[in-house]
Amino acid sequence: MEIIDSHCHLDDFFYEGKIEEVLANAEHASVTKMVAVGTHPKDWEFYAEFVRNHGHISYTVGLHPLVAKKEKELDQLSIFLEKEIKPVAIGEIGLDYHRLPHEQQAKDGVIEFQKLIFAKQLELAKANDLPVVIHSRQAFDDTFDILINSDIRGDRILFHCYGYGVPEMEKLKSFGTFVSFAGTLTFRKEQVEPLKVANPDKLLIETDCPYLTPEPHRPKPNEPAFIRATARFAAKTLDMSENDFCNLTYKNTEKFFALK
Ligand SMILES: [Zn+2]
Repeated sequence: MEIIDSHCHLDDFFYEGKIEEVLANAEHASVTKMVAVGTHPKDWEFYAEFVRNHGHISYTVGLHPLVAKKEKELDQLSIFLEKEIKPVAIGEIGLDYHRLPHEQQAKDGVIEFQKLIFAKQLELAKANDLPVVIHSRQAFDDTFDILINSDIRGDRILFHCYGYGVPEMEKLKSFGTFVSFAGTLTFRKEQVEPLKVANPDKLLIETDCPYLTPEPHRPKPNEPAFIRATARFAAKTLDMSENDFCNLTYKNTEKFFALK
């Protein structure tokens, strides 16, 4: 059995001197591939270098809606699309309305900026024929509208860390979109029904480590090895063997990111 962590952040492990241990734990847990997801030029820089010596890790570049500060940061994206080892997607990008300012004008400003940065990155993804990893929190309708307007094919889109309900899942399903579940699945009951109605051929799993540690590993910081707990939970929910579930999500992840 092999498993892919389709969304992880590895830079902090490196800076804390824990990366070798974390990668060894992952190997021990049969996590044979990982997709390290970018949020800002600083981590893109790190991943572009790091993957040179770690052939089983791929990376993406994108400005996270809560991390992007200036439109100018977008200019740096195209540099990475010329790198020796190219990113496998643009992401994570999207909209996050979870903690908006209360004051109306400030709130409108933040939303407008997030939408602008998001739309521009979708254009770049389209121009470079890359899939997109979407971060969307409390902003489903706006996220979906912008995606529809971008003209990007549904099967080139991945909603990571799925946190919406069944109606939203149905909408994404009919659009052919990929969805990924994180460790929150193991302790947030409201994620169980959306998982059950998800299209199995468009289903991925991830850790989003060092965040969102699954049970029974909470409150430890999350790491790729812990994806096994999420896989076990999801397999049980879907009445599948852990082995079949891992094979399924492995194939889906390879397909979405065109991993070799
Ligand atoms: Zn993430």
